Amino acid sequence: MQTAWLIDQGHDYKSNQISIAGIKVMAAKVFHDIVQRAIHMHGALGVSDEMPLGHMWLYAVMMGIMDGPTEVHKATVAKTMLKNYKPAAGLFPSAHLIPRTQAARQKYEGQY
Ligand SMILES: Cc1cc2nc3c(=O)[nH]c(=O)nc-3n(C[C@H](O)[C@H](O)[C@H](O)COP(=O)(O)OP(=O)(O)OC[C@H]3O[C@@H](n4cnc5c(N)ncnc54)[C@H](O)[C@@H]3O)c2cc1C
Repeated sequence: MQTAWLIDQGHDYKSNQISIAGIKVMAAKVFHDIVQRAIHMHGALGVSDEMPLGHMWLYAVMMGIMDGPTEVHKATVAKTMLKNYKPAAGLFPSAHLIPRTQAARQKYEGQY
């Protein structure tokens, strides 16, 4: 809803790419999970032709393929987000506790 609202405010699709790709991943997953639970709740009736749930379940699988597979949308989210970040220098992430502890020890050595 927020993404649709942002687009309605005149933002172009490009600037909402992360949200749009994310929605495509989540909508397929949410739909799949809901149908799966509804089928399970109905027991054998849920998987019979007497209910629309089997057809819905197949549609949930299709939602993860149509307009690009889920993997591609996930890659779009990851690439778009990572564009704004630089890898930390060295082998370990900048929040790695061992060098941070050593730096703190050096900084406060002899003060306490
Ligand atoms: C119900 C339905 C309606 C459709 N409507 C339209 C339409 O209106 N207009 C239109 O143009 N097309 C439409 N399509 C086509 C749809 O866009 C393509 O099926 C979709 O983009 C996937 O392409 P593909 O079938 O060639 O599968 P592939 O691209 O071969 O993908 C197969 C599988 O390979 C994997 N994969 C593919 N690429 C990557 C990647 N980069 N990274 C990791 N894994 C990957 C995924 O697991 C994926 O599920 C529709 C498809 C369906 C099912």
